[in-house]
Order: sequence, then C-alpha cells, then structure tokens
Amino acid sequence: METIIAASRNQHKIMEIEAITKKFGMNIVSRDEAGIPKFEIEEDGETFEENSFKKANEIMKVCGKITIADDSGLMVDYLGGAPGVYSARFAGEDGNDTKNNEKLLMLLEGVSYKERRAKFVSVITMVYPDGTQLAARGECEGHIIDAPVGENGFGYDPLFVPDGYQRTFAQLSAEEKNQISHRAKALKQLEKLLEERENI
Ligand code: IMP
Repeated sequence: METIIAASRNQHKIMEIEAITKKFGMNIVSRDEAGIPKFEIEEDGETFEENSFKKANEIMKVCGKITIADDSGLMVDYLGGAPGVYSARFAGEDGNDTKNNEKLLMLLEGVSYKERRAKFVSVITMVYPDGTQLAARGECEGHIIDAPVGENGFGYDPLFVPDGYQRTFAQLSAEEKNQISHRAKALKQLEKLLEERENI
C-alpha cells in the first residue's frame, strides 16, 4: 500500500478522502500521524487552486511523499464571490464560525431571496515527489437564507440551502451532505484522474 500524507488536520475531511483513495491502494496518514513538525502554511493565494497546491506542496517538500490537500470556501454572487478564499477568516483572524455567519447575514440584510445565490467550492490537489500534480474541483450551488438553521456540519452550513433541497447543509445528515457536497464532487473528479493515471 502506498502512503499518502494528508495536509489537513480535519479528521472529517481525511475520512472523506480515505473513502475514495483506498480503492487505489492508498493509505492516508495525517501530517500529525506522520510526525511532520507543526508549521503554519500561509494561505495567501488568490484562488482555491493556489492555496490547495501550496498546502500539498509545502508538506510534500518536508516529507518527500505523495501529499493531498483540500482548500474550500463559500462564494456569494451578490458579494462578488466573497468570502471565497477568505471564508475561514471572513470576520477576522480571531473570528469563528458564528462571527463569520453573522457578518455574512449583515452584508445580505434586505437582499432578496433571488439575489442570495451562492456556491461552495472545494479544490483537492495531490502532489507527487516527481512534481506531478492532480487537481480536482467540485462545486455545490444553492442560496443563503436569512437566519441559521440546523445543528450538523460546520462553518456556513446553517445558512446554506443546496439546490433541490428545503433544508440547510446543517440539517442534512453527514451521509446526505457527503453525496452532494463540493468536497464529494471534487473527490469524484480526483477518482477519475487517478483512474486515468492508472491506465497510462
Ligand atoms: P479550509 O478549506 O479548511 O481552509 O476552509 C475554508 C472555510 O470555508 C471553512 O472554515 C468554512 O468556513 C468554509 N467551508 C468550507 N467547506 C465548508 C462546508 O462544507 N460547510 C460549511 N463551511 C465550509
């Protein structure tokens, strides 16, 4: 089995990645489990692609093994695509999910339902020691409601209703969310890229 290092510390993300990659004989190990010294990777890219690559590449340079990283966020049409790559720190460096959600609601106050279109985006990048890069992008479209609803998930989940549903991401079970989420779609695309690579 080939060992792949996950740049993320988010156990939930790692489990989703594991579910897809294990059929390719890959064993996912988190950067902490791999004993990689803790260091901050500045997410200063302007796109999810740049940040996702940077996270994977920085860890790969330290451990010399195939590394996988994910970068994700919410893009709101009315806000010109914000918070985008700043989703985690929308309310400032010492903000949190609640403060981020409050800021989003404040910026959308009085904005009609039709104008509250938004999408979650996830870019998952695999970087190999020989320089090969596989990058997969997934999107999930929906809209932002005007007050948080639901207890599940994290981040902006209580404010986001995916298209075709009457419930927020925070009201869906993990299984339901994992079938339609941006991350699930990016992982499906990664699966295709890995299949193509196997067939070369
Ligand atoms: P990162 O990819 O770990 O840097 O996360 C970026 C930020 O985007 C998170 O802190 C959340 O605020 C937001 N985000 C990304 N994916 C989701 C999701 O599935 N639900 C809710 N918020 C998300």
